[in-house]
Amino acid sequence: MNLDRLNCARCQATLTPGSGKLWEVCIQAAADPWPPEFTEEDLQRNVRRDWAALIEQMKDLSAREAMEQVYRQQVIYLCSACFAAWYENPAQ
Ligand SMILES: [Zn+2]
Repeated sequence: MNLDRLNCARCQATLTPGSGKLWEVCIQAAADPWPPEFTEEDLQRNVRRDWAALIEQMKDLSAREAMEQVYRQQVIYLCSACFAAWYENPAQ
């Protein structure tokens, strides 16, 4: 990252590293982290065939693409005003 040109991810204001007037926000997102519920029917299925089909579906994905299907993270920088607004209501 070029720290000579750091801008707020929301309002594009120029941010000055070391000024104490910006926030580094690390966002981590994981696909549904709860284990799936299995039915009796699921337990009767041919798991080996299901795994083979899953592996076939994923064979053309890079490691990064496969990881991005279940986990993502990014770092953004916000000015103090945008951080305050985001922190009050991060889901908007
Ligand atoms: Zn801002």
